[in-house]
Amino acid sequence: MKIAVARETRDGESRVAMVPELVEKLTGLGYDVAVEPDAGRHALISDEEYVATGASIEDTAFDGADLVVSVQPLDPPRVRGLAAGTSLISFLNTFVETELVATCRDAGMTAYAMELVPRISRAQSMDALSSQAMVSGYRCAIVAAGMLRRFFPLNMTSAGTVQPAQVVVLGAGVAGLQAIATAKRLGAVVSAYDVRAAAAEEIASMGAKPIHLELETLEGSGGYAREMTEDRAARQRELLTPYIARADALITTAAVPGRAAPMLVTAAMVEEMSPGSVVVDLAAETGGNVEGSVAGEVVRIGNAQVWGGRNVPSQMPGPASRLYAQNIVNLVTLMTAKDQDGTTSFAPDPDDEIVAGACVTRDGEIVHEPTRQALEGTLQEGTGQ
Ligand code: NAD
Repeated sequence: MKIAVARETRDGESRVAMVPELVEKLTGLGYDVAVEPDAGRHALISDEEYVATGASIEDTAFDGADLVVSVQPLDPPRVRGLAAGTSLISFLNTFVETELVATCRDAGMTAYAMELVPRISRAQSMDALSSQAMVSGYRCAIVAAGMLRRFFPLNMTSAGTVQPAQVVVLGAGVAGLQAIATAKRLGAVVSAYDVRAAAAEEIASMGAKPIHLELETLEGSGGYAREMTEDRAARQRELLTPYIARADALITTAAVPGRAAPMLVTAAMVEEMSPGSVVVDLAAETGGNVEGSVAGEVVRIGNAQVWGGRNVPSQMPGPASRLYAQNIVNLVTLMTAKDQDGTTSFAPDPDDEIVAGACVTRDGEIVHEPTRQALEGTLQEGTGQ
């Protein structure tokens, strides 16, 4: 049984799907682990470190592999070079990576998407959306603190008192709560808003002040937010305007699963902010919470510098890779069967809720129904086509 660890080839991706310290977990399950040369280079991990913990470094690591693990999906030509029946685990972004999904289907691969691992308590240790969002949230607060040309904390000195920075966080999911916690640790005065009712308590438990708006809350299924109507969105923006105008730093992390990021802050709202203010938009890549933010760039809007996030977890590749690799180890452990004679095999149980939820293609078919519908359309009743 062999697991191959891919060298990431996509622009700007610095993470790696396995780290040396976790290789032994996989060899302990009975796997050989083959790593492509330089796979860890951008995360500052050398080939020698992998070898020291029991992996091999192979130019042809994919040859004979039962499973290939990566952070970003493999590109279609690499998938076509694999033996039929090989399993793949990575983020897959199935609605964007349609060519890749079709390639996996046609080449007979079994592809699992990390973002589709069900967010149930049994799967928490495999939840790469959460582990990477945690890194992003921390990074956003650090970026805001670094860009702001003033202190985050209160400073009382013999030369006088320096007031703390006022930070507003919009969206208090995994990333937002981590941004709040980090900004609080740095001493800022933090307030935050989220459309979910449960969020207010979570914001308060981080030591921040929940912003209460006279609006109904928006709970969707699975503890996620629902999309806003345009009327509600406009009212929310209006009610948030004074809070944003008073903020030295604004951090936005709002998202709605399967939708473009909600536009929470107009350019006119940013223009109300004081000279020297900073805005950090984690959602810039998926449509943006802030009008005019650009993923991967800092732009000026009014008096504020607006930073748009682009593959933010990859900006901290060491810890992000470590957490992602642990998610992979936990998923692979679930997918490993032990026979009565003690021998183990890579044998994901297709009836397991986590395996079934994450599986996108198997045996020449797209088995994730929303992806199948997006690629192949709805089955016409009675025709079987
Ligand atoms: P997410 O990335 O989809 O969204 C980020 C946040 O944006 C959410 O809190 C959402 O409510 C908020 N948001 C959406 N529209 C908004 C708007 N118009 N204004 C302000 N905020 C808005 O979500 P996430 O961080 O992945 O997780 C969200 C929820 O799922 C949380 O309750 C979290 O505790 C829960 N969760 C559960 C598990 C689990 O049980 N295994 C794992 C992870 C997250």
